[in-house]
Amino acid sequence: MNERIYSIAIDGPSGAGKSTLAKAVAAQRGILYVDTGAIYRSIGCYVRRKGIDPKDSESVIAVLPEIHVDMVYSEDGLQHMLLNGEDVTTEIRLPEISMYASAVSAIPEVREFLLEMQRSLARTRSVIMDGRDIGTVVLPDADVKIFLTAAVEKRAMRRVKELEERGTPRPYEEVLREMQQRDWADTHREIAPLKQADDAIPVDTSDIGFEDSKLLLLDVIRRRLGEE
Ligand code: C5P
Repeated sequence: MNERIYSIAIDGPSGAGKSTLAKAVAAQRGILYVDTGAIYRSIGCYVRRKGIDPKDSESVIAVLPEIHVDMVYSEDGLQHMLLNGEDVTTEIRLPEISMYASAVSAIPEVREFLLEMQRSLARTRSVIMDGRDIGTVVLPDADVKIFLTAAVEKRAMRRVKELEERGTPRPYEEVLREMQQRDWADTHREIAPLKQADDAIPVDTSDIGFEDSKLLLLDVIRRRLGEE
C-alpha cells in the first residue's frame, strides 16, 4: 500500500507549546516529530563551548565546517541531538543556550548550513516539524501550516513551571524579560524572521490548556488533510 507522505509545519514564538503539542500530535498520528530549535541550540552549544561571541558572525561561520549535528531517535521516539557524536540533548536545554541559539540563528550562513538537513528529514516520511520558519522557508509546501501563539506573560509562566519541574527554577521576571528579548530578536532579524505564513492557521493557546489545544490541533490537521 502506498502511504501518503505529508508534512505539518508548526511555527510560533518560544513557550507557545509547540514542542509539547507537536510531540503529542506525532505520537497520536504515528509520524516523526522534528524539533528544529534543538538543531539551532546544538550550534549555539558548540559556539559557547568554544568561547565564541555568538553575535560575531565571522567567527561563528569559521567554525561551521567543524560542526556535525545529527538527530537520532530513541525507541520511545524521543529526539536526541548529537554534536560531533556527543549526546547534548540535556545540555542544549540550559537557559543560557537559548540566547546563543537565538543569536547564531540570525546568521544567514548558519540557516543555510541547516536548511538541507531539515528538508531531507521531510522527504521520505511524514513529519510534524516545529520552529520559526518551517511554513515560510523550510517547508513552504507543507500540507498543513499552523502558527501557534500565546500571550508572552502566559508563555513565561509556563516556562517558569517547566523549569521548576526540571529542578532548575528561575524568577518569573527574569524569564519574562528573556522571552521578550528573544521574541524581539526572532521577529526582527533580517533572514527568515518569525512570522505567520499567509496560508497558516493561527491557533492561540493563551486561554486553553494542553488537552484542549491538542484536540484543536488534531482537528485542524485532520480537516486540512481532507480526512473528514
Ligand atoms: O524553539 P527553541 O526555543 O528551542 O529555539 C531556540 C532558538 O532557535 C529560537 O529562539 C530561534 O532563534 C532559533 N530557531 C530558529 N528557527 C527555527 C527554530 C529555532 O531561528 N526553525
